[in-house]
Amino acid sequence: MIKRKRIAELIESNDFGSEVTIMGWVKTKRDSKGGFSFLEINDGSTIKNIQVIAEGTMANYTDEILKLTTGCSVIVKGILAESPGKGQRIEVQATEVNVAGWTDPDTYPLQKKRHSFEYLRTIAHLRPRTNTFGAVARIRNALSYAIHSFFQERGFLYLHSPIITGSNCEGAGDMFKVTTLDLQGLKNKGGEVDFTGDFFGKPANLTVSGQLEAEVYALALGNVYTFGPTFRAENSNTYRHLAEFWMVEPEMAFCDLKENVDLGEALIKSTLAYILTNCKDDIDFFNSFVDKNLISTIDTIINNDFERLTYTEAIEILLKAKKQFEFTPAWGSDIQSEHERYLCEYFKRPVAVTDYPKEIKPFYMKVNKDNKTVKAMDILLPGIGEIIGGSQREDVYDTLLNRIKEASLDPADYWWYLDLRKHGTAIHSGFGLGFERLMQLVTGLSNIRDVIPFPRTPKNLEF
Ligand code: ATP
Ligand code: MN
Repeated sequence: MIKRKRIAELIESNDFGSEVTIMGWVKTKRDSKGGFSFLEINDGSTIKNIQVIAEGTMANYTDEILKLTTGCSVIVKGILAESPGKGQRIEVQATEVNVAGWTDPDTYPLQKKRHSFEYLRTIAHLRPRTNTFGAVARIRNALSYAIHSFFQERGFLYLHSPIITGSNCEGAGDMFKVTTLDLQGLKNKGGEVDFTGDFFGKPANLTVSGQLEAEVYALALGNVYTFGPTFRAENSNTYRHLAEFWMVEPEMAFCDLKENVDLGEALIKSTLAYILTNCKDDIDFFNSFVDKNLISTIDTIINNDFERLTYTEAIEILLKAKKQFEFTPAWGSDIQSEHERYLCEYFKRPVAVTDYPKEIKPFYMKVNKDNKTVKAMDILLPGIGEIIGGSQREDVYDTLLNRIKEASLDPADYWWYLDLRKHGTAIHSGFGLGFERLMQLVTGLSNIRDVIPFPRTPKNLEF
């Protein structure tokens, strides 16, 4: 293989006069009256293109170079030189331009004009070649790295929680079924489905959360985290819900609710700071073309303490609000997204709401002494709403057993989860952070479908 230089590296280089090979896709071509052409080449390593000068004296100039159009792939050999022109510091004076792949300009859908995000979703196989989706991919990569670094630097162990699960316990929305049963045959028989003949001999689902498994490992190894895909068959067509999304779930033994909130705040701030420093060109792009306040919003989040208040205090604030809400706030009802937005605007910063009524939260959250609320916590972000949901977990066997029964669940299904409270139980806490919601914050993109390569939403499974 020919050794190629990445454009990200070349644009920082001062190695003028050296011979380089670049490989990438033509963004634009301009033919000069002087009998030579300018090519703008992008190879995905950076949002920046490199300018290539192709002289009319090259053997394939008339037959090939003049016929190049946006989207063709090329291999260019040439000499790195200081650029006399405006707009770029360096350029490549080509000695050879080989066309790797042609495209028909009449059918290639990515012409120079800007396309709507809706349209680009219908060509998800080509959208990574646009500035926006190239930048999304690079930031997604860097954000994943920042998350792993955050936990690794703090001694957390990365846990691979299972994707297929037999417990449908998390209560976090509807689950996708996993089966090898012949569904066509089933349809005709009617009545109850006999799962004994299924792959696992019982019903199986795609996971909605790795939490319960993470608790197992936290109660042996101390601090763990999962970072993987989760699935929710919720039929909600919103700007912030996907049927398949990635979740980061730390779980810590000997950690209470307050320390849990502290970790969530530190995780958000630290990963945002990493992106501002390490993805500067891409963030500048989003700041110019998607949200003019992006960088200042991120800076504000990094440089201010998150507001902390209880659910009860939050409801009081909402009740006093002059605003007319679609859902009237009331103690005992869930905090709706319009309420989340109001609270973040009220405090002008991220908000952590704790201690929700136990009736509206799952069985595994630790019941407070008042026997009315649980040690739950949600972190809400301006413009995004809920990004983190978590809690201190119920660590007392009898209380947990009662909560499972109250929720009309079968304790037998949770025998191993209950068992943890019988053998060396400990206070422990954790949360789930929606990775795509963090991506939305970092890019300013308002639709969650645009921050994941191949979004899965109701009735959408083309790519
Ligand atoms: P929401 O109230 O926004 O629907 P949730 O309360 O169902 O979220 P949790 O079960 O607490 O969410 O999940 C933890 C985190 O995972 C959420 O705070 C959010 O960031 C993210 N998340 C939840 N559901 C989705 C989804 N369908 N698509 C993308 N991210 C999600
Ligand atoms: Mn939640």
